[in-house]
Amino acid sequence: MSKSKNYRFGTKAIHAGVEPDSATGAIMTPIYQTSTYVQSSPGKHKGYEYSRSNNPTRKALEKSIAALENADYGHTFGSGLAAIDAVLKTLKAGDEVISTNDLYGGTYRIFTQIFEGLGIKFHFIDMSDANEIEKYINDNTKLIWVETPTNPMMNIIDIKTAANIAKKHNNIVLCVDNTFSTPYLQNPLDLGADLVMHSITKYIAGHSDVIMGALATNNKALSEKLGFIQKASGAVPGPQDCFLVLRGIKTLHLRMQRHCENGVTVANFLKTHPKVNKVYWPGFKSHPNHDIASKQMHDFGGMISFSLKDDTQKAAIEILEKFEVFALAESLGGVESLCGHPASMTHSSIPKAEREKIGLTDSLIRLSVGVEDIEDLIQDLKQALG
Ligand SMILES: *Cc1c(COP(=O)(O)O)cnc(C)c1O
Repeated sequence: MSKSKNYRFGTKAIHAGVEPDSATGAIMTPIYQTSTYVQSSPGKHKGYEYSRSNNPTRKALEKSIAALENADYGHTFGSGLAAIDAVLKTLKAGDEVISTNDLYGGTYRIFTQIFEGLGIKFHFIDMSDANEIEKYINDNTKLIWVETPTNPMMNIIDIKTAANIAKKHNNIVLCVDNTFSTPYLQNPLDLGADLVMHSITKYIAGHSDVIMGALATNNKALSEKLGFIQKASGAVPGPQDCFLVLRGIKTLHLRMQRHCENGVTVANFLKTHPKVNKVYWPGFKSHPNHDIASKQMHDFGGMISFSLKDDTQKAAIEILEKFEVFALAESLGGVESLCGHPASMTHSSIPKAEREKIGLTDSLIRLSVGVEDIEDLIQDLKQALG
């Protein structure tokens, strides 16, 4: 499908990047399960030499993801963290990064336990007022890292304001981790970001069967750098996984519609429940950055966190053990509803003192609301909360 930028989201999700197979006309992109490609003479080939550099199934997926993010270039990686690793490898010792202080635990871990040791300096700051970023910029600043909505506190960061700050300074790249929103709900490049990152593992793949990451950009030089790192470091996804993600993307818009519908119902149910203390969800008018969320997101998604009036780990665990439809598991964004306990699961690598500073207390429960029948989800919440 050419000029995919001109099509609407659902049409792009189904068609972008995918062409009938040139050899057979197969409508589904084949799984090119091959490591190498035969050349007719040294250097004479059909565009593919070795599958770490390029693979037709992967290429179709990279085009699809670029189209969904209104980007010219897409790169996929063996995991979301491998994509983050590639972004950080564009930096060198002495460079500085300004990052949101409320972010995915694995991102915090790779920043502090891998790249800090290699001489990169990180400033973890509260970006609920994005103007704060400006205060931390100096000549060494090379990267601003934004995750919005944040995980698990569902804070919203104003991408446009962050982009305007990045643009005032040469050589600062604004990268947005768009995993929670998906390109269906939010398009950071359209708001002025330079780079968008996804854990494909979550909503984009959508079926809890693949680990993968992606980057997309309109900046040719940045794409070339990232493409070089992708090939030189070699953290590429295999063709079978790329096929599964291509299949998943075809229903991304349909799944997201239902995630959003179910999300609003679950958020409103929790809000009035006597055992619940606070519900964190950007769709509430009372959310501190609801106005920004309404502007930069098309809808509010199915990720919801809530704390309990009995603010203890014991109270949270009692509830988590009772769920029958919601499965207790790390991860999010699949068709099935999941529940988790960030303090002891996804965010256990963040020190307790740091966690509590951002409101991530011991009773906090995070829900990834799936696409099941809403009546069954509400019933499950009722019985688990008791
Ligand atoms: C899961 C996740 C990641 C890491 O991705 P993997 O595919 O697990 O490596 C990064 N950021 C966010 C927001 C995530 O949810």
